[in-house]
Amino acid sequence: MKPKLLRSLAALRRETSAWRREGLTYAVVPTMGAIHSGHTGLVAAGRERADRVITTIFVNPKQFAANEDLGKYPRDEEGDVRKLGKAGSHAIYLPGPQDMYPQGFSTTVSLAGPAKAGLEDKFRPQFFDGVATVVAKLFIQTGADYAMFGEKDYQQLKVVTRMAKDLDLPIEVIGIPTVREEDGLAKSSRNVYLSKSERQQALAIYRNLVNAADRIRAGVNPQTATRSATRTLMALGFKVDYVSARNAETLAIPQHRDEPMRLIAAAWLGKTRLIDNIPV
Ligand code: AMP
Repeated sequence: MKPKLLRSLAALRRETSAWRREGLTYAVVPTMGAIHSGHTGLVAAGRERADRVITTIFVNPKQFAANEDLGKYPRDEEGDVRKLGKAGSHAIYLPGPQDMYPQGFSTTVSLAGPAKAGLEDKFRPQFFDGVATVVAKLFIQTGADYAMFGEKDYQQLKVVTRMAKDLDLPIEVIGIPTVREEDGLAKSSRNVYLSKSERQQALAIYRNLVNAADRIRAGVNPQTATRSATRTLMALGFKVDYVSARNAETLAIPQHRDEPMRLIAAAWLGKTRLIDNIPV
């Protein structure tokens, strides 16, 4: 399938209005490009839910801090279009900065709750305000019925779900399980930064999460299990931002053994920051 490329808000609105006139439902898949099978999995899930899928590609400057990788974030429009076409995305919205942040733009969505859980927010303070602002705009601009988000970015999924609910945005946010490499490493656009040996080492994050989850299920205290996962990762050369057991819904620190729990981790391997999470 050859997806329709929509390079402006006006082009997007023409397409989605036509879908509405035909009585079609549609799902949006927000991405920053560098498309891999994690993203195309969201497209496939969107196709199961809705008549049409629109993928958005926008490397959002507002969610990068000055010292982060905005300038070198991988970009490959031609490859992205090909992969998204193969996955069956009906349209691709490629807004320019003028569509998202025109001159004089001065509004930011301000968040609490899961956005202040002390995980990503602690290490990337402006990240979720940037994400929420661009995602709110994409929800409003597309007017989609469904939004597909990966569990890979678990805190982001909870933040965006909460925001849509709190602001009465008429869209259903749907979380999709993480797509992994054969050995278990979570697919990520940032994996291309890893050297060959780092790629081998990177798997330790997932392995240690799985191991900690097994231990918690076997009765070990979540804090004990996550602390020892942290120590193991540090001994392997990771700079660990956090490994934490959280309530799977609120992201608060669990108070009871029988709460639904999620193990969430972020760690640096050399110059690359990796994140992952799994259910307990
Ligand atoms: P990104 O372009 O990396 O910001 O991600 C765009 C969307 O794809 C987000 O909803 C991510 O959670 C999702 N995503 C990224 N990697 C994966 C993966 N390995 N499995 C499932 N979803 C993913």
